[in-house]
Amino acid sequence: MSDSAFTVTASDEQLLLQSLPTGLFIGGAWRPASDGGSFDVIDPSTEQVLLTIADATVADGAAALDAAVEAQRGWAKTAPRVRAEILRSAFELVTQRTEDFALLMTLEMGKPLAEARGEVAYGSEFLRWFSEETARISGRFATAPDGRSRLLVTKRPVGPCLFITPWNFPLAMATRKIAPAIAAGCTMVLKPAALTPLTALLFATVLQEAGLPAGVLNIIQTSRAGAVTAPLIQDPRLRKLSFTGSTEIGRRLLADAAHQVLRVSMELGGNAPLLVFDDADIDLAVDGAMLAKMRNGGEACTAANRILVQDGVAAAFTAKFVERMRLHTVARGTAPGAKMGPLVDEGTRAKVHELVIASIAEGASLALGGHYIDGPGYFYEPTVLTNVPPTARIMREEAFGPVAPIATFATEAEAVQLANDTEFGLVAYAFTRDLNRGLRLAEELEVGMLGLNTGIVSNPAAPFGGVKQSGLGREGGAEGIEEYLETRYIGIADPFSAG
Ligand code: NAP
Repeated sequence: MSDSAFTVTASDEQLLLQSLPTGLFIGGAWRPASDGGSFDVIDPSTEQVLLTIADATVADGAAALDAAVEAQRGWAKTAPRVRAEILRSAFELVTQRTEDFALLMTLEMGKPLAEARGEVAYGSEFLRWFSEETARISGRFATAPDGRSRLLVTKRPVGPCLFITPWNFPLAMATRKIAPAIAAGCTMVLKPAALTPLTALLFATVLQEAGLPAGVLNIIQTSRAGAVTAPLIQDPRLRKLSFTGSTEIGRRLLADAAHQVLRVSMELGGNAPLLVFDDADIDLAVDGAMLAKMRNGGEACTAANRILVQDGVAAAFTAKFVERMRLHTVARGTAPGAKMGPLVDEGTRAKVHELVIASIAEGASLALGGHYIDGPGYFYEPTVLTNVPPTARIMREEAFGPVAPIATFATEAEAVQLANDTEFGLVAYAFTRDLNRGLRLAEELEVGMLGLNTGIVSNPAAPFGGVKQSGLGREGGAEGIEEYLETRYIGIADPFSAG
């Protein structure tokens, strides 16, 4: 549906919010927090309370893990086809309810409806993709090289998992973990971000309707993330931690996970370089840069945060890019024509502004934007900085917002050196018409993913993930299910000589 084909009214918003569960989802039932506590979910475009929901305690976290552990044995034995059909039904149900999911994400996170619909399509596709992968889990049988035994290798579900997800893609970051875990036969506890927990609650109702047995998925939204999840990470019954969020918190959780030698997947921060070479199609590069930088208002781990342009096309690229940024309409996500909503909260906006001010002090020029937009709501102008020195803070720290720093380079070798000069290694983008250069970059850039002449790489059929301090493991693709499977080997005596 196009942006203008659907107009949301205040009563649509109220009806949707009133239809949502507000409890914790534990053992297939909704319940209040054990101490009766609650917290508010805020609309970042109005700063008003959307809904007040249960605030999980340490005891609720323990109850959620109890439920996951209790359900694990039966769930692992459920036929793959049954697990596949549940995922497929969930895919159909989310798709049917696209407008509800989109509106809810717009309300709690701020992104424009058109982008939220895009996330519903992307997030639900993990359900379909992994429904198809469920029946393909297999092992192998071999004769040992000396012929004296047989080797049987099987795949087993890892077991109960803890998922911790961020606020920027409230549906997709959850389905990217939940779908492969369901496919593999794992049970789970999900702790969604405190800023955007409502989408996960709606999604739980869909999974219930799709027939997911009680206890397979448990949801513990909480305002005390560390206190509630730490005991679960220490609990010997937990088998896996999958985290998407900042590198800073990821490092801490990795250290905590070491005590139980937990399996971990870590999808952490990025600071993606986007390289534009002299031989690039400049219009394509500008389109790609807009997509890579401004998708989700720049609040994406894949955001192009270091736009590096070769000297010969720097002026032409910058002029066109600044013009596109100038036309990028900022408004409440439900407003027709909105291209960007508010940032998610005041802290995120303040950090973005701090990096802009620091860049100017460090020698960058402000080509566009650079200011707060009057509230209510945490709005910020689309901003372009040029001549940004490689040593500037913004080239090292992830600016989670609509700020595009541009710098220039002279040679391919310099571009690669600048691109790799970071602790992050999630994704890079490169625009060039030279196939050999593209292939060289695919080998030289230190990243988990490369977008070649495209500003978007996310695809449920592809392995998403980073190298260096951007994380461990992959989500999506054929690789995604492996994160939830253990390999078991059974040595068998030679059937011709065994008694
Ligand atoms: P964050 O502050 O690290 O929070 C992520 C999640 O961790 C939230 O659910 C948060 O709960 C929880 N958390 C915070 N402190 C915790 C603790 N001590 N113990 C356990 N859980 C804790 O990140 P964010 O600001 O939500 O998200 C932005 C970051 O995510 C960016 O760095 C971005 O690059 C990264 N990201 C990476 C990917 C990827 O696939 N690589 C995808 C999306 C985002 P609360 O909500 O209660 O704080």
